[in-house]
Parts: sequence; structure tokens; C-alpha cells
Amino acid sequence: MKEEKHLENKGLLLVFTGNGKGKTTAALGQAFRALGHGMRVAVVQFIKGSWKYGELEAAKRFSDLLDFHVMGRGFTWKSDDLTKDIAKAREAWQFTCELLQQNRHQLVILDELTYLVTYKMISEEELLAGLARRSKEMHVVVTGRNASPGLINAADLVTEMREIKHPYASGIKARQGIEF
Ligand code: ATP
Ligand code: MG
Repeated sequence: MKEEKHLENKGLLLVFTGNGKGKTTAALGQAFRALGHGMRVAVVQFIKGSWKYGELEAAKRFSDLLDFHVMGRGFTWKSDDLTKDIAKAREAWQFTCELLQQNRHQLVILDELTYLVTYKMISEEELLAGLARRSKEMHVVVTGRNASPGLINAADLVTEMREIKHPYASGIKARQGIEF
């Protein structure tokens, strides 16, 4: 009984991975659901974006409960100055580790975090240690392609988005409100 109670309160680790579309938007849907229950939510986006993402604008309307951090603005994976990028990515990860331990949020979305491991900006061990040290009751969602085996193993839930069709294949460009 005691064990069950413990599991009931345990924060869950959710991973949305795979090549199909829907990972970030599923994570944002999760945030929206939690906000509806008055839960405090943080979103950390790890990718550099040049588009004006709708979610960033929408977040302003939930500013009492939702903290939105775009960490990727300064770095990209294709930069000439890789050393600088690695330093920025590591800084973003450090910030995230602190946020995970602060216990201010009941749900934390780490969008495109898998790429930091893919590009060896942080090791899988560092990733797993950071996630394991989070506040006990905090739910975390990690998104990104190619989730590593250790992350999949540590997760309570893993969903793989599999592409069946994408408008890109028919030459349809990214649309406002759908892609960004
Ligand atoms: P979304 O943000 O719409 O939920 P995602 O997080 O699953 O998508 P990412 O892997 O982060 O997708 O890729 C970012 C962008 O690439 C999205 O705008 C998405 O529409 C687009 N994309 C995803 N899958 C494909 C694909 N198979 N072909 C072309 N573009 C794609
Ligand atoms: Mg995404």
C-alpha cells in the first residue's frame, strides 16, 4: 500500500521521439493540459529557431503559470564555431539542471533535448543524472529524434512518432499555425 502511494506521487518521465511530426506539439498539448489544472509549467527549447513560433506568443497569455525559455537562440548545430556552440549548449543544460532541482514547476518540457546527446554536447550519463536529480514529484517531457537507449530505459513512457505522410513530401512548405 505504501509502495503504491509512493508510485502515485512519483513524477513521470515522458519521451516523445521518432522522425514523424508531432513531438513538440504533443509536449505543448501536455503543458496545456497541466496548466488547466493550475499546475506550474516550464518549457525549455534547445533549438535555434528563426521562425516566429506560435507557442512562444501563446505562452505570454499563461505567464502566471508558464515559464518559457528559448535557449537555442544563440547556438546551432551547423555553426563554424563549434566550441562556442558546445559551451552555449552546456550552459543551457546547466540552467536546466538547476531548474529541475528548484521544485518550482510540476511539469517541465525539455524540447529537442535529445540533440544535445546526439551531437555529444552532453553525455548520456550527464543527461540521466540531471533527470534523476529532479524534484521527486516533477513530471518531465523530453522531445527530439533519436532518443538514446539509456533515455528510453529511464523513461516511464515513450512514444515514437512515425511518419506515414508529411506535406513536405508533396512540396508543401511549412505553414503558420501548423509548423510554427
Ligand atoms: P511539431 O513541432 O510540429 O510537433 P516535431 O517536434 O515532431 O514537430 P521536429 O523533429 O522537431 O518535429 O522537426 C521540426 C519541424 O520539422 C516541424 O516543423 C515538422 O513539421 C518538420 N518535420 C517533422 N517531420 C518531418 C518530415 N518527416 N518531413 C519534413 N518535415 C518534417
Ligand atoms: Mg520538435
